[in-house]
Amino acid sequence: MKPRPVFVVAAVLSVIVAAFARFVLLEDTPPTFTVSGIQAGHVVVPPGQIVVSASDGISGVGEVVALVDGELMVVEGEGDERRVLLPTRLGDGQHTLVLLVRDRSWNRNEARSKLEFLTDSSPPRFRLAPSTQATQGRVLPIFLSADEFARDVEATAFGRPLPLEKRDGIWFGVTGVGVSEEDGELVITAEDAHGNRGERRLPLPVTPTVFPDGGVVTLDAQRQKNQKDDTLRAQDGEKRSAAYAVPQPTWLSAGTAHLPTEGRVSSPFGKVRTYNTGVVRHHLGTDIAAGQGTPVFSAGAGVVALAEGLPIHGNAVVVRHGPSLSTSYNHLHSIAVEVGQRIERADVVGTVGSTGQSTGPHLHWGMVAGGVAVAAETWLDTDLLTPIASDRAALEAPWTAP
Ligand SMILES: [Zn+2]
Repeated sequence: MKPRPVFVVAAVLSVIVAAFARFVLLEDTPPTFTVSGIQAGHVVVPPGQIVVSASDGISGVGEVVALVDGELMVVEGEGDERRVLLPTRLGDGQHTLVLLVRDRSWNRNEARSKLEFLTDSSPPRFRLAPSTQATQGRVLPIFLSADEFARDVEATAFGRPLPLEKRDGIWFGVTGVGVSEEDGELVITAEDAHGNRGERRLPLPVTPTVFPDGGVVTLDAQRQKNQKDDTLRAQDGEKRSAAYAVPQPTWLSAGTAHLPTEGRVSSPFGKVRTYNTGVVRHHLGTDIAAGQGTPVFSAGAGVVALAEGLPIHGNAVVVRHGPSLSTSYNHLHSIAVEVGQRIERADVVGTVGSTGQSTGPHLHWGMVAGGVAVAAETWLDTDLLTPIASDRAALEAPWTAP
């Protein structure tokens, strides 16, 4: 007997349906997937994107669920390739990503993976040595530590450039606090190893200094005329400014200063003087009274940037000790060095005299730090390039999470 066609069709259909049910709807093989854009233990700089490439040969890739630290993430795309968007607000540190990839079968077979990763979206942070004390008319050594690797570090202090260098894990530089300086800040721009570049601001409160009153200084007729001569002053100022601006990229001087000449401090730095011309001015140097011809030594190692006679400062020598530190020796009787000469600490630069705008033999010892005149004598007992032990310990202390 020949079977009726309808049964043949039904039998064939049932075989097809059964096969479909067995191999497609009731299959029990989970999908497989790979993840790109992230690696376990590696650093991600958000906003990031993780690409999930999945495949399921039988029923096809269905739902993809992504959780970061237990929170559901947005998953975009369809089919075999999905994108997980990492939130920008993800804080720096360690995170856990859980991925669930399901197929389209009735069983919703699921593959899952768990991955630990790190994020870093913050530029380096900086910490200032606790003993840092900005005082009017004083040199200000700066010691800093960073919470991570930092490159292309640029800084200003009180709005003036502050060259910084790194030694033994500590960033250092030298600046100065002007005689009328007001509270300021240190602004540091740096980039970390992952390209996060940004600016950090640290306050630099200024302690005022009450400078002694120097009374009235009587200048003779010629010196009165010189003091009022703007051309002479400008000539003096230009030469000196140019000397202080001579590039000196490396530090040549370490430790404390050598006292430039033996003698009595006849006028301390910052003293307010009233001249018989009516001019009132801070005395921007330290005067050491000594006999004419007494040797004058360089306070530290450096390169001579000026060695010539000036109308106001007389025979003057400027020595550059580092990127932001210079000293000057003025009213000299004789000059013993030449511009460009490399000298050591305590080398003779000239002899005491009374040249220029001076009322008797003395050394006017000056210091310019970070672009402003400061009291040179601070350098006699302060190592400007080495932090004290307690500062080093504080700078090296562990950082808290950002
Ligand atoms: Zn002086």
